[in-house]
Amino acid sequence: MGKRKAVFLDRDGTINVEVQYLNAVADFQFIPGVPRALQRLKEAGFLLVVVTNQSGIGRGYYDEAALEAVHEHMHAELAQAGAAIDACYFCPHHPEHALGDYRQECACRKPLPGMLQQAALDLDIDLAASFMVGDKLADVEAGINAGCTPLMVLTGYGSAHLPRCPAGVQVCPDLPAAVEAILALAGL
Ligand SMILES: [Mg+2]
Ligand SMILES: [Zn+2]
Repeated sequence: MGKRKAVFLDRDGTINVEVQYLNAVADFQFIPGVPRALQRLKEAGFLLVVVTNQSGIGRGYYDEAALEAVHEHMHAELAQAGAAIDACYFCPHHPEHALGDYRQECACRKPLPGMLQQAALDLDIDLAASFMVGDKLADVEAGINAGCTPLMVLTGYGSAHLPRCPAGVQVCPDLPAAVEAILALAGL
């Protein structure tokens, strides 16, 4: 079992404003307060790991280079705020709507926990001491399936998915509020 604690973060609708199949740097916009909130998690000793479903790649809407460009932009902006992301994992697959090799029943598409489990191996993470924050039911379920503590935010699709959120899951207005909740839960 790993030794480090992490906060796993969904991207679209959690870190940045939800845009359908975001694939251009010009369309990337942080949800207010997010860079500062992520800086607080770093200061508290958490690894920051983005785990994002990107079936738009598999569907042929954009390619992995476009995704990398968006992530480089996100990294650069966050680095300026002292909130460097430690790793990004993405799932380009879809079981029905993707093309070629991207069409598969993979182990990484949330709500499956594959990306979180891979990160735990790569970065020596203690999943039971870690958290998963996202705006969709699939994010909450991925966190539960990985053995993390899930939190749901109401930005992005959060309000729409809230009625299906399992009982007992902490719900927060946005990622900055979720960070406050995590720091309280962790006794920090
Ligand atoms: Mg999302
Ligand atoms: Zn996948």
